[in-house]
Amino acid sequence: PALVDLRQVSLTYRVGKEETLALADATLSIAKGEFIAVVGPSGCGKSTLMKLVTGLLPPSSGEVHVRGEKVVRPIKGVGMAFQNPTLMPWRTTRDNILLPLEIVAPHKQQFRRKRAEYAARAERLLASVGLGGFGDKYPWQLSGGMQQRSNLCRALIHEPEIMMLDEPFGALDAFTREELWGIMQLLWLERRFTAVLVTHDLREAVYLADTVYVMSRRPGRVVMTKRIDIPRPRT
Ligand code: ADP
Ligand code: ADP
Repeated sequence: PALVDLRQVSLTYRVGKEETLALADATLSIAKGEFIAVVGPSGCGKSTLMKLVTGLLPPSSGEVHVRGEKVVRPIKGVGMAFQNPTLMPWRTTRDNILLPLEIVAPHKQQFRRKRAEYAARAERLLASVGLGGFGDKYPWQLSGGMQQRSNLCRALIHEPEIMMLDEPFGALDAFTREELWGIMQLLWLERRFTAVLVTHDLREAVYLADTVYVMSRRPGRVVMTKRIDIPRPRT
């Protein structure tokens, strides 16, 4: 069953009198637990597609459905990671990872009461990305790759059903990037979230995704859909 369904979705940005067609008549569906990648040059509408899927933008025409319901406001249960990890420098890695839980807690008291349990959850996540024992370090004490791994932990702490990954490895050197592909794949095999990865890197898309959507330079057009059948390690 489809978790996300885009039905003939178009989006036109209007700034003053200027109109930009950023997504044209896109129809695609993402199954629960599927890993999709969207590749294409800058300006082809990848970020716009992400914002439509998560309900941050309403489509100009067409409909977006998530879990069978028409999306009319930002959806819940989404984890996000971008190119630059936005970790707060004055918080330890652990406290950065706990931040999403702290923000959604209705009262500070409630968060404090569950803190030990949450911290244990953060520790398990850190261990699964190879950062066991690094919870007390501050972001600036970590390398770029380690910061992005912490960033992924933060995105996963509330156990989201959908992960939106916008060029999460784009700022890393080639060696670190490929190391993170392996970690990303392990996280996905363990947790089976649905993932939408935006990337410029075709090798990355093929490595990680079940389905690769290729968008063209003419803004907003999905020109090719390539389903990839990769035998995956069973865990
Ligand atoms: P990508 O993520 O592939 O680089 P975007 O979705 O950001 O592409 O942009 C698609 C097109 O829409 C581009 O031509 C871009 O300039 C335009 N665009 C994106 N965001 C806005 C906005 N907020 N207002 C006006 N035009 C925008
Ligand atoms: P809390 O809400 O639990 O106090 P923070 O420690 O993140 O969470 O602090 C709240 C806000 O205060 C932050 O969003 C940030 O804008 C600001 N802030 C706190 N410490 C600093 C700092 N060292 N440098 C800059 N801004 C800070």
